[in-house]
Amino acid sequence: MKELRGGQVPPPLPIPTESDLSMAFDNNQRTRIYNRTSGRCHLCHKKLAFKNYGIHGARGAWEVEHSYPKAKGGTNHMNNLFAACISCNRAKGTSSTASTRAIHGKKKAPLSTTRRKTVKTENAILGGSLGALLGIPAGIVGIALGALTGAHIGHRIDPD
Ligand SMILES: [Zn+2]
Repeated sequence: MKELRGGQVPPPLPIPTESDLSMAFDNNQRTRIYNRTSGRCHLCHKKLAFKNYGIHGARGAWEVEHSYPKAKGGTNHMNNLFAACISCNRAKGTSSTASTRAIHGKKKAPLSTTRRKTVKTENAILGGSLGALLGIPAGIVGIALGALTGAHIGHRIDPD
């Protein structure tokens, strides 16, 4: 779940005031929250439209969801905030994140944009190696073709 490596510390979020609790996230915060799950609802994994933030009824409309509900003392800390479809968020209410994800057959949040890229690269490397092995009987051209095909397939594997 850790997004940052190498001792990078995310800038602290402002201390939430009463009015923040009605959800005023700036563009920067929304971008970070959106990218945490590669622009997908963390509950049902449906693709969200960044520009339709808070626009109820719009395609891919989403809002910031408190994984641990505010009503139960959840905070506005980044690690408690996820992008979710408006309908998912409203339906979740004060239920737990785990039980709401389970309704959609999901156990985890979608991977972050950064993590997704890493996994795709790993898949491509793995696919490339496998492809090269399969290509060996066909000689050097086969190895190259096999590696290319493998990398291509590997890159297309959905990391979820
Ligand atoms: Zn959803």
